[in-house]
Amino acid sequence: MMCMTSLQLECRPMTLAGLLKLKAEYPDARLVVGNTEVGIEMKFKDARYPVLIGVTHIPELNHMEVCRTCLGLPSNAS
Ligand SMILES: Cc1cc2nc3c(=O)[nH]c(=O)nc-3n(C[C@H](O)[C@H](O)[C@H](O)COP(=O)(O)OP(=O)(O)OC[C@H]3O[C@@H](n4cnc5c(N)ncnc54)[C@H](O)[C@@H]3O)c2cc1C
Repeated sequence: MMCMTSLQLECRPMTLAGLLKLKAEYPDARLVVGNTEVGIEMKFKDARYPVLIGVTHIPELNHMEVCRTCLGLPSNAS
């Protein structure tokens, strides 16, 4: 999914492959999950991110793994 305004391109890929493709195309793109930190940077610190990639819908980044000796936290966790 993509939404383009005159100032910003916002993308929300649904697959890890789609994310990697976008990141290759826009290496400086900022990843966003809840937008708490990035939103504050943009609203109050005058940060400009021409390309935002929302990664909430990528299954691999939401998958938590727990075993007897390990805990795997997904990068979308905060
Ligand atoms: C009012 C308020 C209260 C808060 N209270 C607390 C608190 O009590 N404890 C606490 O620990 N924090 C607190 N925070 C901080 C906030 O929870 C953290 O900054 C958290 O990272 C925000 O998560 P987010 O998903 O909204 O981040 P986002 O704004 O979406 O992203 C934060 C950063 O992580 C990067 N990022 C996002 N997703 C990924 C990903 N999948 N892989 C790699 N990088 C990624 C972004 O590019 C950005 O640099 C608070 C913030 C606010 C505004």
